[in-house]
Amino acid sequence: MRELDRPTENQCPFLGCFRDKATVYSYPTRLNHCYAQESVKRRFKIGPRVVHPSVPVDTDRQKTKCLVSGKWEACPYYQNKMKRDVQGRAGGR
Ligand code: SF4
Repeated sequence: MRELDRPTENQCPFLGCFRDKATVYSYPTRLNHCYAQESVKRRFKIGPRVVHPSVPVDTDRQKTKCLVSGKWEACPYYQNKMKRDVQGRAGGR
């Protein structure tokens, strides 16, 4: 089994292991998640909504975008997250 890695410049900064945003698998795997997106789930039909800070990323997408330097910058999820972060910082002043 391969080890978890610290993110590098080659990988999208929002790609992380599903249990730990600060580490990432450097190869396509279902264990990598995208932290630029959130998912909302309910455990039961009438239960409370639970927000998860990440979503799983398709391994083909990881191969062609998330893990490829020069490609992840064009990802719409990356661009939207960056836009929201900048707006959030500007609104906090
Ligand atoms: S490249 Fe896009 S889908 Fe992949 S981790 Fe980054 S923001 Fe998420």
